[in-house]
Amino acid sequence: MLFSSTRDSNNIADFKTAIFKGLASDGGLYFPVKQPDLSSVYNSFSPSHTFNEIASQVTWNLLKDEISLGQAESICNNAFDFVPEFKNLTEDLSILELYHGPSAAFKDFGASFLASAMESFLQNDDTHAIILTATSGDTGSAVARAFYKKKNIDVVILYPSGRVSPLQEKQLTTLGANIHALEVEGSFDDCQRMVKEAFTNDAINSKFNLTSANSINLGRLVPQSFYYTWAWAQLKDCFGGENIHFCVPSGNFGNLTACLLANQWGMKSGHLIAATNRNNVVPEFLKTGTYQPRASVLTPSNAMDVGAPSNFERMQQIYPSNTAMQKEISGYWYSDEETMAEIKTVYENEKYFICPHTAVGLLASKEWLSENKNANQKVVTLSTAHPAKFLEIVEEALGLQPPLPKQLQSLINKEKKSIKISNTLEDLVKTLKSLF
Ligand SMILES: *Cc1c(COP(=O)(O)O)cnc(C)c1O
Repeated sequence: MLFSSTRDSNNIADFKTAIFKGLASDGGLYFPVKQPDLSSVYNSFSPSHTFNEIASQVTWNLLKDEISLGQAESICNNAFDFVPEFKNLTEDLSILELYHGPSAAFKDFGASFLASAMESFLQNDDTHAIILTATSGDTGSAVARAFYKKKNIDVVILYPSGRVSPLQEKQLTTLGANIHALEVEGSFDDCQRMVKEAFTNDAINSKFNLTSANSINLGRLVPQSFYYTWAWAQLKDCFGGENIHFCVPSGNFGNLTACLLANQWGMKSGHLIAATNRNNVVPEFLKTGTYQPRASVLTPSNAMDVGAPSNFERMQQIYPSNTAMQKEISGYWYSDEETMAEIKTVYENEKYFICPHTAVGLLASKEWLSENKNANQKVVTLSTAHPAKFLEIVEEALGLQPPLPKQLQSLINKEKKSIKISNTLEDLVKTLKSLF
């Protein structure tokens, strides 16, 4: 399977090249040149298939020209020692919990698969790579955990000193081994600038064989399709594949794009519901047909505070016209107050804790269901993070703290190990030289 840049259809790469490059050289995002038809593979899935079986089958069928079935299975089995879980609310509404991985958020699926695929390719070539990345707190932890102890790979994570939550800092700084946390005297913008400067400096880039693992990487996008397929396979015999609708709390729209891709490849689920907070560029577009990216605003569901969603470029590639996209996807957005109230409503009715992103998704699912009453259908709302990852917000909504999951609990007594550096490229390079 080949991939080309969303900005230049002649800029082509295979999967391996695309995942190590991250972004195409023209700044575009990698996207399939031609969507393969795997309908017979998708139709063969049943509730008895495990998540890993589905993941391995899809991976191999997509990447047959590059990897063997055995390699696909070992990439998936090394990546996924955690699986999605259902929580049924009503007959027509379920939650798909995607937060049982090592960092307690859905980004673990993408990051773990990417790490495992990179490790597999690097071992075959016997080369070494360094993942260089900046984090404002939340997203870095999925990458750190995913690459922990992977062979032939080191991870260097820059984070702004004093500006990440204590729990986030523990997630970045207590792993050790091949995970190096650089505590930068500066802001998140400084961290991002330093990473960008290193990448655009050819001498530095090639000396250290730098690569990125950010959320637009194709190697994180493809595996996000697997949990839609697993959920669909669980439910399709009961409801009919086209009566299973997915609702996705969205920011950069990578998660939702992964569902669109699975449908392109032959899954054929029903309607899609895009849920956002006040950063409502896509819901506005779906309503009016005008796309107006803008600066993001801060909300309680802060992992979705995105004003210019990067995957919109990929969504446009999938649909021949705006009206085609508007027909298949409905957009809804909610205020901070509505989000906080939903956390409370769900806890009061179900004794069930949800994170603020999941709250936005549930609001949208309920609104869509109230407008689309049909017998025998199911809306599956993706739950993107464990509520304990957003402790302060959930506590503000409820006056109660959700219990920490075991993977976060074990961090509390671990010792922080970071390397303090100033906010300059020089200091970053000096540190890289001392480490490698
Ligand atoms: C990243 C993230 C989102 C948004 O996902 P996108 O793929 O960027 O749309 C939603 N919720 C949580 C908890 C996240 O970390």
